[in-house]
Amino acid sequence: MTVAEIEAWLRQEDPKQLEQLWQSADQIRRDHVGDAVHLRGLIEISNRCVRACWYCGIRKDNKNIERYRMTADEVLQSAQLAKRLGYGTVVLQAGEDPGLSEPWVSNIVQRIQSDTGLAVTLSLGERKPHELRAWRQAGADRYLLRFETSDSALFAKIHPALGHSSRDRFAILAELRDLGYEVGSGFLIGIPGQSYASLAQDLLRCRALGLDMIGVGPWLAHPETPLGLGMVPPLAAGEQVPADERMTLKCVALLRKLCPNANLPATTALATLDGHAGREHALQSGANVVMPNVTPIQYRALYEIYPGKACVSEAAEVCAQCLAGRIASLGRHIGTGPGGKTLD
Ligand code: SAM
Repeated sequence: MTVAEIEAWLRQEDPKQLEQLWQSADQIRRDHVGDAVHLRGLIEISNRCVRACWYCGIRKDNKNIERYRMTADEVLQSAQLAKRLGYGTVVLQAGEDPGLSEPWVSNIVQRIQSDTGLAVTLSLGERKPHELRAWRQAGADRYLLRFETSDSALFAKIHPALGHSSRDRFAILAELRDLGYEVGSGFLIGIPGQSYASLAQDLLRCRALGLDMIGVGPWLAHPETPLGLGMVPPLAAGEQVPADERMTLKCVALLRKLCPNANLPATTALATLDGHAGREHALQSGANVVMPNVTPIQYRALYEIYPGKACVSEAAEVCAQCLAGRIASLGRHIGTGPGGKTLD
């Protein structure tokens, strides 16, 4: 697909044409990665963050949230819960928190793997090369770091640099690949200032990066952030990408066409926009992964990257049952094992 064709799809509003897009992406998903939906248990291990990303509710400048960092035992208990619920992977996600030191993370990766045998994915931000290397050596299987937008001017505006330690995310993604991680990335949809042309480039960038997993979701305004307060005005109507469900589904479907073998999650941000059927719509438009939350209930609401996050108050067991029903209602089944490159 050319950039012009992608942009035309992003602007497409004809329901019949869109129906064809969802159906063809669904067929490619079936042919390449099958009917299994892989579940990754998400553990939000810390909401402390040294960064000031203009969209994110846990940015360091937000003084209106209580900060937490889980203990190693709490993380391990959450991983054990994920194992009991039948999930093949846990994802340890956090703000960029130097308090999650290299040895601490290495140790928890080893403990999770020896206790549960689960695959471990890390999503801990722009960490130093020696940390990424040590965690890979400790056994971490995958690393997720979204590039957020491939428009370098927009990226620079909404990601204030952190002195000398700020690093180019594409360079980090290349490092992760060299270290032998399965690499995940992705972008935000509908950030103020994001044009259709730039979103088309984001999609093509995912293909060029040869990603193993691609997570995309709508930007959701958080009132304690510069973007939520309107500090970047949207482009003119017709140029600004909307942060809505339809645009997210278009991106998921186009990603399945561009990257047929990738793992594509139906994201929580989409489920937050449409709690009734957002995940189902994504699973019918190319997605094959869901990341149910197994963070202890007392911390969930504090990991408020955007308001109204889906599934904040349900116990993990309730989420697991709810998801199993939703997946079965689509004629799909839950994947077994880690669901990595080999999609076992
Ligand atoms: N600190 C790590 C990092 O930056 O990669 C992981 C945590 S970060 C909160 C995870 C993802 O949340 C980001 O990549 C971003 O795309 C998403 N996110 C943050 N704020 C958001 C918002 N207001 N709306 C939608 N997604 C958001």
